[in-house]
Amino acid sequence: YQRRIYRGCQLPAETIDGYRVQVLANIELIEEVAAVLDNGGEGIGLYRTEYSYLNRTDLPGEDELADKYSDLAAIMSPRKVIFRTLDLGADKFIASFGALDEANPAMGLRAIRFCMQHPELFKTQLKAISRASAYGNVSIMFPMISGLREVRRAKAKLREAQDELRSQGRRFNAEMPVGIMIELPAAVMMASMLAEEVDFFSIGTNDLIQYSLGIDRTNAHVSYLYQPLHPAVLRSIKHVVDAAHQAGIEASLCGEVASDPFCVPILMGMQIDCISLSPQAIPGIKRIIRQARMSECKALLRDVLACRTVGKINRLVRDTIFHKY
Ligand code: PEP
Ligand code: MG
Repeated sequence: YQRRIYRGCQLPAETIDGYRVQVLANIELIEEVAAVLDNGGEGIGLYRTEYSYLNRTDLPGEDELADKYSDLAAIMSPRKVIFRTLDLGADKFIASFGALDEANPAMGLRAIRFCMQHPELFKTQLKAISRASAYGNVSIMFPMISGLREVRRAKAKLREAQDELRSQGRRFNAEMPVGIMIELPAAVMMASMLAEEVDFFSIGTNDLIQYSLGIDRTNAHVSYLYQPLHPAVLRSIKHVVDAAHQAGIEASLCGEVASDPFCVPILMGMQIDCISLSPQAIPGIKRIIRQARMSECKALLRDVLACRTVGKINRLVRDTIFHKY
């Protein structure tokens, strides 16, 4: 990591006409916090917690995780830190469980499905995250949620973990916000109902694009078909943002799309509340937001939604953005 200070990156991400977007950071390691703060990150929008479980033969215990998570919460306080519960499976495995024999791992036992099949492992993490909530502005979110039953079961596990903490006399924030990642087409379709169950949504476009377009995000043969500006993807994102707002909850987006200068003005047109991206990309994206006008973003979104093909959308967005910046 090279220390590069951009003038203006500590200023709020606010358009010329006064619309404010929260710009948070995606991290995998606590050591990235310095880069987050130097680059003007206003908090952590996605902490990918699986990295503490990789490259070791044992499993981290509750105290080890609670110490690590509490340090992160305390360093970032009063800024927000969103802990995403384990997203193992697909391409990431832990030694103690080994790789599963699955023909289609991306559609297999990953993320929340894996955690629900390993309740003790899940509870350990839920207790550690809850303990960290006593030290800062902590939220929790569940990955790969596909429907109501799954989110209700995950929340029940969180309550169980917190009941245990209570009986052990441990401190935690009983009001810790609970969110879900929207990264499956099923969750998009269920967004208005899911919004009644949680405090916020975070749209995971890396997976949402993969599952919506049927394009394996790790397969180079079809990478040319992995298109963030596909009309189906944009309609899905808009549907989720609208459903969140109708229910009075925040809509955030933490996929790579949040660091794409061609996508961010469209997301702003949708009135996204928050974006979360890699720390190094924050200054450039903040600059784009600070040079934008909400009225123009809304006009761009309207024009984009009138296009029926991804080719047309790509041309329109490139022409508009090149013309402007
Ligand atoms: C996503 O799917 O967009 C996301 C942010 O999660 P990950 O890349 O860790 O799957
Ligand atoms: Mg994902």
